[in-house]
Amino acid sequence: MWKERYPKQPVSWPNGVRLPILISVHHQSEEATCTFPDGQPDPFDVSERQYGGRRGAWRLLEILDRHGIKGTWLICGATLEKYPAVSRAVKKAGHAIAGHTYAHEMICNLPAHAELELIKKTASVFEDLLGERLRGWRTCYASHNTVDLLLEHTDFEWDGSMWNDDLPYVIEGAGRQILEMPFATYSDAALAVSISGSASPITPFSTYHSNTPDFIFNGWKAAFEGLYEMAATRPAMMPLVVHDFTAGRPSRVKAFNDFINYVKPFEGVVFTHHEELGKWWRNSHSL
Ligand SMILES: [Zn+2]
Repeated sequence: MWKERYPKQPVSWPNGVRLPILISVHHQSEEATCTFPDGQPDPFDVSERQYGGRRGAWRLLEILDRHGIKGTWLICGATLEKYPAVSRAVKKAGHAIAGHTYAHEMICNLPAHAELELIKKTASVFEDLLGERLRGWRTCYASHNTVDLLLEHTDFEWDGSMWNDDLPYVIEGAGRQILEMPFATYSDAALAVSISGSASPITPFSTYHSNTPDFIFNGWKAAFEGLYEMAATRPAMMPLVVHDFTAGRPSRVKAFNDFINYVKPFEGVVFTHHEELGKWWRNSHSL
C-alpha cells in the first residue's frame, strides 16, 4: 500500500516561473463511446468522437506548434493502433507522451489483475508501434489499485490520474517512488459538455449536449486568474486538459487559441509538459 512522502521544504519553480500551465492533450478519439443499455456502442457518439483521431488531434497539434508549446499527449493504446500517424507526428514534434489506458476503460470497475493486464497491453503497444517506453500514465477513472499497480509492476516515473491537488506530490511503495501530478475538472471534458441536468441518455460526458466556446473560455480564464493570484504568494500549477474529439472542433480550438493568447502576456506564465514539470519539482526538493 502506497503512502505520501512529504517534502522538507515547499516547491519552488525555476527563476521567472510564476505559474506553469501543464498542458495535457487526451488523444482518445472514439474510445469510451457511450453504449446503449444492451451494451451496443451508440453510433452517433462513435461518429462524433471519431472526429478526434481524424481531425481534432491534428488541429490541436497545429495550435501548439503555432505557439511553440510542448505539451503532454496522453494516448490510448487502441487510439495509437487506429491513428498511428497522429502519434508519430506528436513524437516528431517533441511533445511528451504518456499512456491513457488501452481503450479508455472504466478502470475503477475492474479487478486489479484486469487493470494490470491493460497497463501492460498499453505499454507494449507504445513500444511496438512507436518505439516509446512509457514513463507516465493517466486514467480518467483511477481505481483504488491504480497507484499500487504502477509502483509495483511498472517503472513509470509519474502518474496523472488524481484530481486532488494544485501541486505534484511524491508517493512511495514497493520500494520506489512515483510523482503524482493531479489534473482538474475544469478540463474540457467538464466544460465542453453540460454538467447539470440530463446531459445525455447515458452519461454527462457524452457528446450530446455541448456548452458554447465562450463558456469553456471563461471557465479556463477563471481558473487561470484564481491560480495566478494565488501563485503570487505560494507555488501553484494549472493543469489544462484538452480532448481531441471536443476541443479539436474548430469553435473550441479557437477558444483554446484565444486562451493561450490571453495568458501569454502575464509575467511568469510558462506552458510546459509533465516531464519538464516533474524535473523542476524534483530539483527543488529534498525528501
Ligand atoms: Zn480521458
